[in-house]
Amino acid sequence: MDVLFVASEVAPWSKTGGLGDVAAALPRALAARGDRVTVVTPRYGSIDPVKRGLRRLDVALHGRSEAAGLYVADGPAPVYFVEHERFFGHRRGLYGENGHDYADNAARFAFFTRAALDLPAALGLAPRIVHLNDWQTGLGAWMLRHEKQDLAWARAARSVLTVHNLAYQGNFPKQAVPAVGLPWEVFRHEAMEFYDQLNFLKAGLVFADAVTTVSPTYAREILTPEHGNGLDPQLRHRARDLHGILNGIDVEEWNPETDRHLPARFGCGDLAGKAACKEALQRELGLPVRPEVPLIGMVGRLAEQKGLDLVSAALPDLLRLGPQLAVLGSGRHDYEDLFRRAARERPDQVAAHVGFDEGLAHRIEAGADLFLMPSRFEPCGLNQMYSLRYGTVPVVRAVGGLEDTVEDYDGYRRGTGFAFREYHPRALLTALRRALDLFRDRRAWTGLMERGMAQDFGWDRSAQAYERLFAELSSR
Ligand code: ADP
Repeated sequence: MDVLFVASEVAPWSKTGGLGDVAAALPRALAARGDRVTVVTPRYGSIDPVKRGLRRLDVALHGRSEAAGLYVADGPAPVYFVEHERFFGHRRGLYGENGHDYADNAARFAFFTRAALDLPAALGLAPRIVHLNDWQTGLGAWMLRHEKQDLAWARAARSVLTVHNLAYQGNFPKQAVPAVGLPWEVFRHEAMEFYDQLNFLKAGLVFADAVTTVSPTYAREILTPEHGNGLDPQLRHRARDLHGILNGIDVEEWNPETDRHLPARFGCGDLAGKAACKEALQRELGLPVRPEVPLIGMVGRLAEQKGLDLVSAALPDLLRLGPQLAVLGSGRHDYEDLFRRAARERPDQVAAHVGFDEGLAHRIEAGADLFLMPSRFEPCGLNQMYSLRYGTVPVVRAVGGLEDTVEDYDGYRRGTGFAFREYHPRALLTALRRALDLFRDRRAWTGLMERGMAQDFGWDRSAQAYERLFAELSSR
């Protein structure tokens, strides 16, 4: 299969979240299976001093042509960087700075998307699948249908839009319609209009040949008003073309047997190294070094999505149960303060590190006994999969990708973690109590850990599912 993969971030060059990871891993997994995948992404100012300089790309927009630079990072799935000084080169952030989105994001990502579609002709390629990702590239689905006359390579192409998080939609004032070179006819409810704004994601949902999202359960949930973020009517309309394909994780980067961030290594059937990781983590974080005290880890964006109001409400009761808590994250200041304060008041039980720290994220995943992830909603989630791989038992809310990856312990010998459904601090505490009770039963606990560690979350299975979808679309 010949695929053009269009994404506004690609790790390690640019990343604000799961999208960057997927855009790095999925093309590589497809390439390893023999597909030809060309990745295209903006060259932000932070990406430097770029790779092999290539050529000039003429981008057709507003009925005229604007020049962009083009660079490439070679590899099994080569990554092409679109360079445009004013739109990308001069910016320190990807989508904004200091908590404010850039005012010209509509123009920036309309330009990038059109540049991505002008790439195949410049390279002499004719991909059969154009894989778009999130709102930044949503207009591509419309362009492929309506600008066919100057995208000759695309006549037989099919488009797929993957929604990584429906909460981010790219809504802009309607003045953006002419400003990004769209005709006013797109500004209607059946197309891109959304509460009198121009909605880039909706363009993708309406015009892509297929829509995917990053877990089967989230794919069902977003059809409901509760999780549909106002777009559930469009999604229900496309329900037959909507597929949930679970993300994988990078099993080389997240491998407890080889992880270079850890003070000791371990694996299924050889858990001595995990005890050493716990001891080192307690020491690193200034917690009492006590192997018998259960240590709960939390890593992630401190955002509403992650269920932090539940944690906040449950925290006093949670601490009364006696565990240690290690938190790494940044985001909303009130949540940062919550954990800082808890660490100050209860230094024997709580350690909080506000910031982004890749190494510490690995050491928490390895050293903790339990991992808490009580998300309000979760398109897929990666941390619970890392936890399972590291023998750290996840306690999660059964929602979205968490429901698809963590099986609730049945009290006997099935299950890989603890899940609760009701979005209420009481439900979280009940699940945690069950977990802490079982923690004292070393044999049952080890069985639980090892079942989790034996799960396969590699990318190959996801890549196969995407291939099946691509093949089905191509045969239409
Ligand atoms: P989301 O994409 O909603 O932020 P995911 O669980 O899918 O959540 O992925 C988050 C990724 O970012 C994980 O790889 C996680 O380890 C990483 N991460 C989030 N916050 C931090 C942090 N403060 N320090 C280190 N890594 C972090």
